[in-house]
Amino acid sequence: MTPPPNSIGSRNVAVIGAGAAGLVAARELRREGHTVTAYERQKQVGGLWVYTPNVEPDSLNIDPDRTIVHSSIYQSLRTNLPRECMGYSDFPFVTRPDDESRDPRRYPDHREVMRYLQDFAKEFEIEEMIRFETEVLRVEPAAENSREWRVQFRSSNGVTGEDIFDAVVVCNGHFTEPRLAHIPGIESWTGKQIHSHNYRVPDPFKDQVVIVIGNQSSGSDISRDIATLAKEVHIAAKSDAYENESSIYSNLHIHPTIDRVYSDGSVVFQDGKVVFADAIVHCTGYKYCFPFLETNGYVTVEDNRVGPLYKHVFPPALAPGLSFIGLPSMALQFFMFEIQSKWVASVISGPVNLPSEDKMMEDVIAFYAKLKSLGIPKRFTHFLTDPQWTPMFEKLKPHEAVLISQSEYFNWIAEQCGCSSIERWREEQYNIAIKKDEDTFRDDWDDDDQLIQEAYRDFAKFKPTKVCCST
Ligand code: FAD
Repeated sequence: MTPPPNSIGSRNVAVIGAGAAGLVAARELRREGHTVTAYERQKQVGGLWVYTPNVEPDSLNIDPDRTIVHSSIYQSLRTNLPRECMGYSDFPFVTRPDDESRDPRRYPDHREVMRYLQDFAKEFEIEEMIRFETEVLRVEPAAENSREWRVQFRSSNGVTGEDIFDAVVVCNGHFTEPRLAHIPGIESWTGKQIHSHNYRVPDPFKDQVVIVIGNQSSGSDISRDIATLAKEVHIAAKSDAYENESSIYSNLHIHPTIDRVYSDGSVVFQDGKVVFADAIVHCTGYKYCFPFLETNGYVTVEDNRVGPLYKHVFPPALAPGLSFIGLPSMALQFFMFEIQSKWVASVISGPVNLPSEDKMMEDVIAFYAKLKSLGIPKRFTHFLTDPQWTPMFEKLKPHEAVLISQSEYFNWIAEQCGCSSIERWREEQYNIAIKKDEDTFRDDWDDDDQLIQEAYRDFAKFKPTKVCCST
């Protein structure tokens, strides 16, 4: 059979990063018959889930020459999703009663996620494909008009080198480069400031008055963590989602966003209320960042839009040689990494075709135009979520929801590569979980027993000895 025009067969493929995305990408690429080399600058697999008490010296991460600490995980972190829906589809994230050191909770701590990823890497013998302590410095086309890619790297002993690949799959994560919101007057505000990337424990905030900016997952968790020791914690939030909510922390207060701050330490909120604070914790999210990528300006990051990318994965002019796994946020991450990886692996080897470059570009342009017409800023380009669960998208009409709905996205990819899409129970568990934000949601749930049963019925297909009921 004549290979399709954009097929390059079973090839040599580089994967950058061995976090949850890189691990499953390496597995899917090898399953498809490719030869895989994964570069990982840390000593071990796990990416973001490799907890470290170390933080960057520059607490707002502004200095471009600072030493990067990859992880943004704080000590008390527990997952914000139930374990059943969080795992990869064919390697259930179940409890391990055979090992007392494991966390059996349904919303386990970060160590348990790390152990799960280590188990996954071991089960599928992924480590043999990884070059640890090897940082990728540059990724670029090997020559003008070449379909090959040059990867330059430096190992921890300072040795540099380069390899040539047929394709590069970028899985470097996007929770390391902080994003800061501008606050009028902040230049003269004299209190302490940190970004959540550098938050680990509440101790430095003992007896202090602390402002936490942002009430998404990290802001919500960190404010409660700090409230255990601080005198007062004031959350500055865009949405009024928590306004009527009661919290077990009487020292936790919710406000609208900050209007401005002053050199006397005062913080004035949009409703005119004033708080004199010791510290501000910026839980304002992260920026996409690919310092190693050189595409002659073809792939750019503009107001957190990485583009042009066909379906958040392939840059039309460089596909299938360059691809990105894991860019969409606000979605079921591990499942998404897995299904995107299956698509990339099968496109690189050829059985699955991409449209022509022009057609992909048309699709991208139409997508951007649609976002614009709906008034959705560029920085939400990679938000993959159902608008009905996301206050900022609430004004969209149901037919517009498809634009950014994760299930539509997963179904579309599944159709491309002939694999299964998201299971009903997984999607429903996710939809229930992301609406929860009360203090106790991780330990007090009784609304999805039926879905748990469905999940465990599905899990029985895989490694039955390891599948036990969640406690
Ligand atoms: P990462 O885990 O960041 O891995 C990227 C890897 O690339 C790293 O190992 C890094 O060292 C490596 N790397 C980067 N640059 C280079 C380079 N130049 N050379 C070599 N190696 C490089 N998701 C959930 O599903 N459930 C949760 O409960 C959850 N909680 C979260 C809590 C926080 C605070 C944050 C920030 C995110 C959370 N997430 C959660 C989302 C989480 O990011 C994803 O689940 C997932 O772990 C990201 O995987 P990744 O592989 O894309 O990125």
